[in-house]
Amino acid sequence: MQAAGTDHDIVVIGGGINGCGIARDAAGRGYSVFLAEMNDLASGTSSLSTKLVHGGLRYLEHFHLRLVREALIEREVLWSNAPHIIRPLRFVLPHCPGFRPRWMLRLGLFVYDHLGGRRALPPTATLDLAADPAGAPLKDGFRTAFEYSDCWVDDARLVVLNARDAADRGAEIRTRSEATAIEPAGERWRVLIHDHAANEDYAVTARVVVNAAGPWVGRVLARTAGADGEDNVRLVQGSHIVVPRLFAGPRCYILQNSDRRVVFAIPFEEDFTLIGTTDRDYEGDPGEVRITPAEILYLCAAVGAYFRTPVSADEIVWSYSGVRPLFDDGSARAQEATRDYVLRQAREADGAAMINVFGGKITTYRKLSEAVLEMVEDHLGARSGPWTGNAPLPGGDFAVGELGTLARRFADERPFLAAAHVRRLIRAYGTRAVRAIGHAASTSELGRHFGADLYEAEIRYLVAEEWALSADDILWRRTKRGLELTADEAGELRRYVASLVEAEAARDAPARSRSPDMRP
Ligand code: FAD
Repeated sequence: MQAAGTDHDIVVIGGGINGCGIARDAAGRGYSVFLAEMNDLASGTSSLSTKLVHGGLRYLEHFHLRLVREALIEREVLWSNAPHIIRPLRFVLPHCPGFRPRWMLRLGLFVYDHLGGRRALPPTATLDLAADPAGAPLKDGFRTAFEYSDCWVDDARLVVLNARDAADRGAEIRTRSEATAIEPAGERWRVLIHDHAANEDYAVTARVVVNAAGPWVGRVLARTAGADGEDNVRLVQGSHIVVPRLFAGPRCYILQNSDRRVVFAIPFEEDFTLIGTTDRDYEGDPGEVRITPAEILYLCAAVGAYFRTPVSADEIVWSYSGVRPLFDDGSARAQEATRDYVLRQAREADGAAMINVFGGKITTYRKLSEAVLEMVEDHLGARSGPWTGNAPLPGGDFAVGELGTLARRFADERPFLAAAHVRRLIRAYGTRAVRAIGHAASTSELGRHFGADLYEAEIRYLVAEEWALSADDILWRRTKRGLELTADEAGELRRYVASLVEAEAARDAPARSRSPDMRP
C-alpha cells in the first residue's frame, strides 16, 4: 500500500455502493479523491440487499413515479456496463384471489413496461400455470400468473468494481479506515482517519466531503464540528434467508402477502433459493443487525402459502440482515417510506462543502452519483461532464449477449476447469477472469485448494486487486463461497489470508510511513 497524499478535492466517507459510485464518477472527471471505508467495501447495506436492479413494481402503488422511471431506465444502462455481474431475470407473479385484482396487476405491469427504458428486456406476458412449467412447484389453485422482467446483480461485486475503477482512475481507496472527526480548516475540511488495520491515526483535507455512510450517515454528521445535527435518516431492517433450491428453472417468483407486501424467491448461486425481504423499523447499531425469529417465521410462511414444498427454519443454510438508510418522509409504515434518495448540504464553511446522502437504491447509485457530482461542480468548478452511462465496469467490456461465448472460450482454453467453476469465474470477473486465476494450465497451477472451487490464485488476486483483507471478505462479499466451504475449510482460509495480508503489509511497511503533517 502506498502512503496517502494529504490534500484532495473530495473525501468520500463510506465504501458502499453510493460512496464507491461517487468516487468512481469523480475520479473519472479528474478530481482527486480519497475514500475511507471503516470496514470492508460493501460490508454495510450494499452486500445485504435483495440484489435486484429493478424499477420497483411495488413503488408504483405509492406513486413514486420519478424513482420508478429513473430506476427502470437504469436497469439496461447498468446491465450493458456490467453484463458479467448483472443479468436479466424473469419474475413470475401469481394472481392470488383475495389479493390485488387482475386488472390492477395488468395495469401496474403495463405502466412498468412503458414508463421508460425497456429496450432489450422482454415485455410482460400472461402465464397459464396449468401449462407453463412455472406452475409446477406451486400449490393447486394458482391458475394465472404474470411474467415481467427486471435484472439481478451481485451487489457486493458491483461495489468492488466501482472501487476498482475509481482506483484505476486515480482515487485512493482506504478500507478499515474510519472517519472519526470532521472539522473545518480554513477553506477546507480536515477529516481525521483511524486506520484499524495499522492502528494509527492521520488526517486528510478536502474542499468537499461527501458523507455516504448509509445507515451511519447520522453518526458521521454527529462527528462533524458545527453540523446542524440534521439527521433525516429512517433505519428500516430487511432480512433474507437462503435455503437449498426450492424449484427448477431460472425464473424468480414474486409472492403477494396478506400485509400487502411482496416476498421474492430467487434462484441463487446454482444450488440455492434466496427468500426475502422484510421491513421493520430498526434502532441501534446498523452493524449489529440480525434476523429475528419473527422474520424467519414470516418468510417461511410467505413461501409456504405458495409452494407445494414448505420451508422450515431448520432448512436455512444462511441468512442475512441489512438496514435501509431511508430518507425520513414521515410515513407511518416502514414499507411505505420512500426509497428515493435525497442529497442535503449540511454546512458550508468558507467555501468548503459537506454533502450528505440519504436513502437511494443499488439500482439508482449511478444517477445519485451524477447528482452529487453536480453539487461538487458548484464548489470545485466543472472538469468534464457525466461519463459513466456508457463506460463498462472492470471486466464488463463485452456485449450483453456475449456472456456465453466468453465462457465457452474461457472453458476451451482451460479444459481442466469444471463447467460450474467457469460459469462462476466469468460471472464474477468477466473479461478479467484470466487475471483472477492467472495463466494456470492445470488445476495444480491454481495453487492450494481451500474447498469447493476456491484456489490460492483467486485469493491472491482478491487480496492484491480487490482490497480483500480477511476470509469473510472473500467468502461473503467478493464471492459467495461461504455457502460451500465447511467450517474447517473456512478456518484454513482464515489462517492463510491472515498470513498473506501480514506478509504484504510487512513488504509495504516502508511505503506506509507518512509525512509529519498527516498526523492528527
Ligand atoms: P452502505 O452500503 O451501508 O455503505 C455505507 C458504508 O459507510 C458502510 O460500508 C460503512 O461501513 C461505511 N461507514 C459508515 N461510517 C463510516 C465512517 N465513519 N468512516 C468510514 N466509513 C464509514 N436496492 C436495490 O436497488 N435493489 C434491491 O433489491 C434492494 N434490496 C434491498 C434489500 C434490503 C433488505 C435492504 C436493506 C436494502 C435494499 N436495497 C436495494 C437498497 C440498497 O441496498 C441500499 O440503498 C444501498 O446499499 C445503500 O448503499 P450506501 O452506500 O448508501 O450504504
